[in-house]
Amino acid sequence: MVLVSTCSVLLDARKKCYAVPAFNCENLEMVQAIIEAGQEVSSPVIIQTTPSTLKYAPPATFFSIVSSLASKTSLPIAIHLDHGDSPSLCKTCIESGYTSVMIDGSNLGYDDNIKISKEVVDFALPKNIPVEAELGAVGGKEDSHSVDKKDAFFTDPSQALDFVNKTGIQTLAVAIGTAHGHYKETPKLDFERLASIAKIVEIPLVLHGTSGVADDDVVKCIALGISKVNYATELRDAYTKGVREVLSDKTVFDPKAYGRAGRKSVKDLAVYRMKLCKSAGKA
Ligand SMILES: [Zn+2]
Repeated sequence: MVLVSTCSVLLDARKKCYAVPAFNCENLEMVQAIIEAGQEVSSPVIIQTTPSTLKYAPPATFFSIVSSLASKTSLPIAIHLDHGDSPSLCKTCIESGYTSVMIDGSNLGYDDNIKISKEVVDFALPKNIPVEAELGAVGGKEDSHSVDKKDAFFTDPSQALDFVNKTGIQTLAVAIGTAHGHYKETPKLDFERLASIAKIVEIPLVLHGTSGVADDDVVKCIALGISKVNYATELRDAYTKGVREVLSDKTVFDPKAYGRAGRKSVKDLAVYRMKLCKSAGKA
């Protein structure tokens, strides 16, 4: 199947009260793992890459990997730019074939966040590419962009609708107490805030920094209106753990041997996440 728009996948999720997990991939094996997981449980697939991953290998390379694997399946598969740090990177990804982009202006003031998000929407929408933007700031470190815990501010529900209307975005990342990276303490999510945002804003909502959030809390967020759940840190952990186990045998020298092990642990985790988010069976 050709790659699909992230929007088509997420609008169905929003309507039917499930979420699609979006997985950050860093290499071929992780992309293979996520698509295999999707096939195993018949889940729509969203694969995403951050700016630092795109410095490691450019958007065209990731697009080629994802689209060639997608063409061998009947699954709806989308490829998304996560935390785009400039309109120019968003444009490069769109021109390389990405089926959605995020522009992250959450570290800017409100008006500048609107301005940069709208600039990307104005470029993307005529090409039918949906745009995700973030209001409020998810704590922790994502790529080179870091938000001090005390500076992390939550999404203001009354501002959310104005932000969506002024930018014209298709999905909104909300800040309700999650953080990127490894949690040092158990995150406390603001469910009431999420419920108020979901009541006012009709477009699909996105949860960032979900690695380390309790499964019950994720399920609750989905019931309250989250349609896309981002997982990055735990996949890196899983991949590295799988590789490390094989490499503890010093006689191993074939990259395929440890690549396979990393792929297997990422796939197992992705299957688990697809079931948890209830995207399993929705493809
Ligand atoms: Zn994020």
